Amino acid sequence: MSVFPTYNRFPLTIESGEGTAVTDNEGNQYLDFVSGIAVCNLGHRPPAVEEAVKEQLGKVWHVSNLYEIPLQQEAAKLLTGVTNLDYAFFCNSGAEANEAAIKLARKHTGKEKILTFKQSFHGRTFATMSATGQEKVHQGFGTLLPTFEYLPYNDAEEVSQIHDQDIAAIMVEVIQGEGGVIEGTELFLQAVQNKCKELGALLIIDEVQTGIGRTGKPFGYQHYELDPDIVTSAKGLGSGFPVGAMLGKAEFAETFTAGSHGSTFGGNPLASAAVKATLQTIFPQQFLQSVQEKSDYLNELLESKLLPLEGVKEIRGRGLMIGIEVDQEAIHFIHKLRGKGLLAVLAGPHVIRLLPPLNVTIEELDKAASILEGVLQLEKANHS
Ligand SMILES: *Cc1c(COP(=O)(O)O)cnc(C)c1O
Repeated sequence: MSVFPTYNRFPLTIESGEGTAVTDNEGNQYLDFVSGIAVCNLGHRPPAVEEAVKEQLGKVWHVSNLYEIPLQQEAAKLLTGVTNLDYAFFCNSGAEANEAAIKLARKHTGKEKILTFKQSFHGRTFATMSATGQEKVHQGFGTLLPTFEYLPYNDAEEVSQIHDQDIAAIMVEVIQGEGGVIEGTELFLQAVQNKCKELGALLIIDEVQTGIGRTGKPFGYQHYELDPDIVTSAKGLGSGFPVGAMLGKAEFAETFTAGSHGSTFGGNPLASAAVKATLQTIFPQQFLQSVQEKSDYLNELLESKLLPLEGVKEIRGRGLMIGIEVDQEAIHFIHKLRGKGLLAVLAGPHVIRLLPPLNVTIEELDKAASILEGVLQLEKANHS
């Protein structure tokens, strides 16, 4: 083995995929309710994106940001067109999008501190690791960037008690993904926004996981009365093509000027082709409406089948980002579900997270719910 063992990999090799279905190297089929961790939001190899990337493959792949890239402008327009934001900066991952947001906030405000929340996840670079409110992510790396502080999530009272004037930004997820699929409350998020206004700090919303239709709206913050200064995106943005973006208000064009930030790969023609085709498919209202309908359908199904089971404590989430909290280590269930043909992922030790493609079919939702019921029921039988 020649790859650093930084991942705890499951013993599964996926060889091919189409839509929600994937096939492993022994010919076994699975329903993929992980979607590469909220990346393949249109399932595997969505035809519109495949076609757009193929077409671009035959023209030019990469030119660098020394030159004009019309497709990058078009991708940016699609993002700003559905948000309250005016400009996009393209990079290659969620961490890089957050890194750009942190740099921009500090440069624009001339202030240093960034507040984030406990159990948050913002990435693995030095700044975004420092922004991440999880001890286990920091371990072994020595002194973090000193300008990050973590507050308890969903605690409006704590937020309202901040009086420090040296705060550049507050960075928050509207649903904590890695932290356990925890929805932010309207009260809490309003308190965060009000505090930003009061202190002249920027409101940065990390939509790396909640964005690109995952919650039934283009971005998760749109379920709330929020007006963020900066929104970051990645994961689902390119349907599996590695790409990230930071969106910001027009006033920041005077901060992010030529030479102040950059990326060699960011928004190259291939990535931009993938982004454009992805957004053109997901952002139309009709598609988002169908996500909401599937979400309602799945939630009803899970609540009727799973909530009565002894070991199931709570089902939560928004759109097609769902967490099932169980009363024991959820990893056992992840393994059993895979054995029955359903791929799911953890969100913290006690939560089974479901992230099906947004174009999952009703039949696939039915099948997944039955597998979940079987596995979670079996567990109860084993214990009694
Ligand atoms: C996955 C994730 C990131 C990090 O994205 P990478 O592409 O792995 O760098 C940041 N923030 C949130 C909310 C995420 O879910």
